[in-house]
Amino acid sequence: MKWISRVVCTINRTSSVKSIRTDKPHDVYFKPGQFFKVFSSKGFRYLSVSCSPSQKYLEFTKRVTQSDFSMWFNELKTEDEIVIEGPYGRFTLENDEQKIAFIAGGIGITPIFSMLEDARINGERRDYILFYGNKRSDDIPFYAELCDFSSLISLKIFLFIEENDGTIKDLYHCGRLDFEKIRVVLPDINKRAILLCGPEKMVETILQEINNSGAVYKNIKTEKILGYTGG
Ligand SMILES: Cc1cc2nc3c(=O)[nH]c(=O)nc-3n(C[C@H](O)[C@H](O)[C@H](O)COP(=O)(O)OP(=O)(O)OC[C@H]3O[C@@H](n4cnc5c(N)ncnc54)[C@H](O)[C@@H]3O)c2cc1C
Repeated sequence: MKWISRVVCTINRTSSVKSIRTDKPHDVYFKPGQFFKVFSSKGFRYLSVSCSPSQKYLEFTKRVTQSDFSMWFNELKTEDEIVIEGPYGRFTLENDEQKIAFIAGGIGITPIFSMLEDARINGERRDYILFYGNKRSDDIPFYAELCDFSSLISLKIFLFIEENDGTIKDLYHCGRLDFEKIRVVLPDINKRAILLCGPEKMVETILQEINNSGAVYKNIKTEKILGYTGG
């Protein structure tokens, strides 16, 4: 389905990450974690939805780069019209997956945030653990919201920060998020559904580490946020 929506508000998440919310036609349905095509006048980008289907709006969250699309996205304001197509994708949870390990790198949090917000709104009782890696402690999209969720649903969060800029809090683990660090925290991770999302290189590296660990994980879903070299 392809349609035109209007921007209802914009939110600066961090200095380099911005969200837009648009109205949602009554006949648009999606599952938490899916993505859409969002069109500017010069082309489109795939963007994961970063809100629950229970919200009245659709939300997309983008890391703003120097590209024409990013500039256009960054300048969107209330009442602007945008063309959207979708939904697409299978990076979603099944009803029988009750114990879940999310692994997110940087902007790869967007589809996972959609699932967690949905769990929070619907008071779900699944058991969630989130491993979330970012470069810097001052550039963590949805940090405050995730901390709120962890007191409202069964969600444990492990944050990994690559660059120790002197503001590392007790809550953070230092260094790049890798599979060995995850296994130390969660030795029985193979008993959980694993949902892994991040820039292409991060997803491929963690899959390789899982492979090298010799363990067999049957239930892994991945989403590659193509188009970024970093987080
Ligand atoms: C399923 C999916 C979900 C995504 N969800 C999000 C999201 O929620 N938030 C977000 O910020 N980004 C998301 N992305 C990435 C987004 O679609 C853009 O690729 C990214 O934002 C870079 O675009 P840009 O305009 O900022 O930079 P550009 O300068 O246009 O792109 C940087 C480089 O990446 C290449 N590139 C751009 N798009 C693609 C592509 N689709 N495949 C391969 N190479 C590409 C360009 O050719 C260029 O070399 C998602 C991508 C996919 C495939």
